[in-house]
Amino acid sequence: MDQICRALSMQVGTLPFRYLGLPLVSRRLSAMDCKCLTLKLVDKINTWTSKCLSFAGRLQLIQATLSGIQNFWIHNAVLPKETMQECEKIMRGFLWAGARGRKLSKVSWSQVCKPKVEGGLGLRRVVDCNKAAVMRLIWDILTDSLSLWVRWCKEEILKGRSFWQIEWKQSLSVTWKHILKLRTPVSANLVYSIGRNSTWSLWHDPWFQNCHLFVRIGNRAIYNSGLPRDTTLSEVIQDSRWNWPAHVWQLRDIAAACSDSQIGQRDAIGWRREGGAFSFKLAWESTRLAVPLVPWGKIVWFSGAIPRHAFCLWLTFHKAHFTRDKLHRLGIVQSNLCPFGCGQQESIDHLFFQCPFTKSIWSKVLHLNNCPFPAAWNWENIATWALDHSIGNRFHLWIRRAGLAASVYHCWRERNNNIFRQSAASPSVVLARITSDVARKAVMCMSIIDTPTNRSIVDNWEIEESIFRPCSGYGSGLGGARLGNGRRWSWLWNGGIVFC
Ligand SMILES: [Zn+2]
Repeated sequence: MDQICRALSMQVGTLPFRYLGLPLVSRRLSAMDCKCLTLKLVDKINTWTSKCLSFAGRLQLIQATLSGIQNFWIHNAVLPKETMQECEKIMRGFLWAGARGRKLSKVSWSQVCKPKVEGGLGLRRVVDCNKAAVMRLIWDILTDSLSLWVRWCKEEILKGRSFWQIEWKQSLSVTWKHILKLRTPVSANLVYSIGRNSTWSLWHDPWFQNCHLFVRIGNRAIYNSGLPRDTTLSEVIQDSRWNWPAHVWQLRDIAAACSDSQIGQRDAIGWRREGGAFSFKLAWESTRLAVPLVPWGKIVWFSGAIPRHAFCLWLTFHKAHFTRDKLHRLGIVQSNLCPFGCGQQESIDHLFFQCPFTKSIWSKVLHLNNCPFPAAWNWENIATWALDHSIGNRFHLWIRRAGLAASVYHCWRERNNNIFRQSAASPSVVLARITSDVARKAVMCMSIIDTPTNRSIVDNWEIEESIFRPCSGYGSGLGGARLGNGRRWSWLWNGGIVFC
């Protein structure tokens, strides 16, 4: 050791110490060891002037920065439960209340941590990410990755046995205990390709329909087959054909099912598909329970949506705004009356858009979009209308979604101005804010063709003329002429052409 140190001009250190910002300890990582992670998250938050940030801005900072810091740790260590809870608490607090102060969460954290199509905000639970990171370690072991850690595991833990043969022991490290716990979910993700000289373990590798044959057929049948416990798949393959022991009846249906599967040149393993590389996203997907998609996901989150409007609309679909009827029930406020002075109770249905004040704004937005007025003005009815009449790629559908999100956002903001700043604007001022936001966004992120439908909407919203794409031969003209290849109209979206 002394010679090595002299040759490399290094000193012998002692554990624990930090390497690349992570604590290196010879025992289980404690919450105290990980304190620097939570402190780093808090420090980061304190450097942002988050008082001025919107919910959408804070969400972006969580996704871009805080999750990144946390993911670096997750990919390198199994975090203690207390640390994971603390990380989520910090992020949850920052999302709903910014750097300082405490506020009630408007939507549960488990709902926030779902994909947007399932009604969440696209964040991920730390515990699920931790599992996906451990799955990555299993993948490295199975694919014989060229890492020092894998080589160490092979020497010290596997000792020539199949990974699937390792038994749980109290003396195993925390990481290895996690690894063993996740063998079943990992095996469900694996797709085995079998080579003619396969070295997969016949009884232990989940090469057959993602299950282990020793579990499926039991010890007695294995004993009857005459094939030892550590036998490889190559024992039942002869000249690239299956050759199963015929006298074991438990193996007959397996032999029949295998007869169609191809035997290739060499063994290979894939994640979710033949030859597929490991995917953290797919691994994360397999750690959680997916829920049905929400029908309104496409109304809230779409290309060209304004983030702060989308966030407000997302809260509305969850009915999560703290309207006065809700606060009154909780005993937080004395009055449940609408702040626009109409004398009625304030609720989501009332604000969007039964209240005479907001109704006058929403009716003007419908008018700008050349849409008829609804039969009922409550939120349920508006949401149903949006589901039926605003989803799709066409420009007039885009602007219906953008108009709805902008109306909800500006009406809610005006309501807050009324309550907290004692400043009241007229419906026409609120409408001007809506049209300004939508028109600016439209001209910034898209280019459309000059059709009568589009022209009428562009004129109504007073969108700049530059939104029209210069006519370039095909697709030009009026009346929705079809392109030669059957596609109808085209427009640019964030630099990419979308045909519709
Ligand atoms: Zn009202």
